[in-house]
Amino acid sequence: MPEVFKGSFTQQEPIPEEAIAAAIEVMRSGRLHRYNTAHGEVAETALLEQEFAAYTGSKYCVAVASGGYAMATALRAIGVRPGDRVLTNAFTLAPVPGAIAAVGAVPVFVGVTESLVIDLEDLAAKADQADVLLLSHMRGHLADMEALMAICDAAGVTVIEDCAHTMGAAWKGVPSGTQGKVGCYSCQTYKHVNSGEGGLLVTDDAEVAARAVMLSGSYMLYGRHAAAPPPEAFAQIRYETPNISGRMDNLRAAILRPQLRDLQARCVRWNARYHEIEKGLRGTPGLRVIERPQKETIVGSSIQFLLLDWAEHHVKDVLARCAARGVELKWFGGAEPVGFTSRYDSWKYVDAPAMPVSDRVLAGIVDMRVPLTFTIEDCALIARIIRAEVSAVYQAAA
Ligand SMILES: *Cc1c(COP(=O)(O)O)cnc(C)c1O
Repeated sequence: MPEVFKGSFTQQEPIPEEAIAAAIEVMRSGRLHRYNTAHGEVAETALLEQEFAAYTGSKYCVAVASGGYAMATALRAIGVRPGDRVLTNAFTLAPVPGAIAAVGAVPVFVGVTESLVIDLEDLAAKADQADVLLLSHMRGHLADMEALMAICDAAGVTVIEDCAHTMGAAWKGVPSGTQGKVGCYSCQTYKHVNSGEGGLLVTDDAEVAARAVMLSGSYMLYGRHAAAPPPEAFAQIRYETPNISGRMDNLRAAILRPQLRDLQARCVRWNARYHEIEKGLRGTPGLRVIERPQKETIVGSSIQFLLLDWAEHHVKDVLARCAARGVELKWFGGAEPVGFTSRYDSWKYVDAPAMPVSDRVLAGIVDMRVPLTFTIEDCALIARIIRAEVSAVYQAAA
């Protein structure tokens, strides 16, 4: 009997008891709106912002309704206008081009390398086409951030980082989200902290932070923030910035604060699982593991490998055989978007030229979630299953 995996790839851990207790406190108070504070009280949302700013080493933080909202707000706050072109990754998820479309701007896609990061040569070639790069650290893979920032600085391109998959990650010890002008994070259930929905935006730029606060819907209550610039920064901005409501509430903030305190420990646990799977996959004929650079501090909440230059029906065969043994793999090479596996040519609202070099890579990307509910033994079993099925299909095809 072949081994079968029985776990769920979409089951996250429960919300910690401490977070549940904090949520109950907020509900008992009735003060769920972030600006509904008792005399002298600092709201949970404001405290979360303060703590997340400290965690990333940023001056300012704004908590919002989603990661997608954080990105659109960042684009607006740095002055992207309808019709502007914005560089972004060809390999990313739908909310990224969606944030660009939300402000009426037009995505210009930059290719993906076999290391699953943005292609810096393609970026350099296209850097004169836009003033902004919305850089997605897709699936947690960090590009060479020094080289990337050098290209963008030289071309006068402002960088916004999409850190939906890199909360807790770093490049040469510098936290992801703090190299560009703005860092955007998601607190949605499948990311690194879980409030169902939610987003965070960090920046060191007082003007951008003040605009983001106003945009998020602070009315004139920005004085109740604990990680926002001083009132002077709002003097003019308060009149010229539209309110596009997308605040976070105290209930979400209350359950996020204990999770943030535990984030470092969770990252360690993710990486133990990631490395167990990686170890089991390494050396599988026909399968390429993604080598992670020394300078990268990863958070292995998902894992990718390449079945590069495989025939489509062979990849599908691997997916079906793994699924039959309980291992849920996602493939970015499919002609149609399935679940979250859309790609640059799925977004038909963008008139994107074909990218054959990226198409070859995308056609080979296989992706798997690594929830913390998996044990290390689960991870070893999953790797054995993938290894056996990839080898079987590869050998039959040879
Ligand atoms: C989830 C995700 C986002 C945004 O998240 P939401 O909170 O769902 O809006 C942004 N980028 C990537 C790559 C994501 O996976």
